[in-house]
Amino acid sequence: MVGTKEMTVYEEVNVFFDRAAERLGLDDGVREMLRRPWRELQVSVPIRTDDGAIKVYTGYRVQHNGARGPYKGGVRYHPLADLEEIRALASLMTWKNALVDIPFGGAKGGIQCDPRTMSETELNRLTRRYTLQIEHLLGVNRDIPAPDLGTNSQTMAWMMDAYGQVHGYTPGIVTGKPVELGGSVGRDSATGRGAVYVLREAANDIGISPAGARIVVQGFGQVGSWTVRLLADMGCKVIGVSDVEGGVYNSGGIDIDALLQHKLSSGTVSDFPHGDRVTNEELLELECEFLVPAAIDKVIHGGNAAKLKAKVVVEAANHPLTPEADDILNEAGVSILPDILVNAGGVIVSYFEWTQNFYQHQWDMERVNDELGKIMTRAYVAVREKSAAERITMREAAFMIGVGRVAKVVKMRGFI
Ligand code: GLU
Repeated sequence: MVGTKEMTVYEEVNVFFDRAAERLGLDDGVREMLRRPWRELQVSVPIRTDDGAIKVYTGYRVQHNGARGPYKGGVRYHPLADLEEIRALASLMTWKNALVDIPFGGAKGGIQCDPRTMSETELNRLTRRYTLQIEHLLGVNRDIPAPDLGTNSQTMAWMMDAYGQVHGYTPGIVTGKPVELGGSVGRDSATGRGAVYVLREAANDIGISPAGARIVVQGFGQVGSWTVRLLADMGCKVIGVSDVEGGVYNSGGIDIDALLQHKLSSGTVSDFPHGDRVTNEELLELECEFLVPAAIDKVIHGGNAAKLKAKVVVEAANHPLTPEADDILNEAGVSILPDILVNAGGVIVSYFEWTQNFYQHQWDMERVNDELGKIMTRAYVAVREKSAAERITMREAAFMIGVGRVAKVVKMRGFI
């Protein structure tokens, strides 16, 4: 039985990995080699707080697999960011980068902290200290961090600066930087844009008009807010939106421009006056065509999966469904568009940024979005075709493609 409460996120991701490995017929040794992170670093990150005290945080960098290229993945600042979670997220990066076929391995980093309670200067000190603690593992051809939950382009600017103090000017050491410091245009919207591309393709395949579809989005950070904005531009009816404080529901469709304004002024969408207030749990259970979890992992689990009334779940977050929820929804005929496909837009534009940094040349928005669209569509079509040909779920197909590519390269390189 999968998905019991005792399973860690890492074990859960490996349920999906094992299913793919089984279908691919990989032998036990190769499985073990692909499952385990190649390198894990845990560091202590002491900083002086604004009131003069010393506080010590724990940071991580997990390099899951480097067979296909330099390790690549974000840095998460979150109270729940422990080694097991970072491991799970690092492994998802390996399969994601292989699935969309960009030349990276997978990694993830993080600090167990609550950035919402920290000042700008504390975050700057924390980020610099963390960077210096993991700097010997990084490199433009070794490991390239990026933003994730709780971090942003400012965090990347600090990381680049701290790394540069040791190694000299190296913009390609991180992606997701401010455009003024060598970041790529379109990086901030990239994950949301990629998710919307996938949603649109899937809507066409299933025969639902995206313009008329009712959509619910959980999470209003970088990913959720861009997804909502781009969906509204496409004429979709977003009927429910939430952030950590709670959500808002309006069956007639939420006025997204007004919502974005409201979020700017009040800091939350939960008290937006033009709709009914809902909790995050209630939001997930709203009747809709597309439900887009765009916040944290494991929000849909054995306890609430059967209550969902969505036709399609679009996993913009990393690992929003436990394997148990995945089984329940598949059984109920709900389509699930998997995370390693849906949210790959961020790392794809990170790849463009890294490439631009080599040449010190900036692409324009049209080129970024155009090439992002091509890669996302190619990956979506590959997943859909494999899923249809082998009569398996989109997740199984996506993992089979990703895991299969890494397994092949591991053999070619002669590690085993
Ligand atoms: N944190 C993002 C993810 O989970 C992006 C990683 C990157 O750009 O390297 O895919």
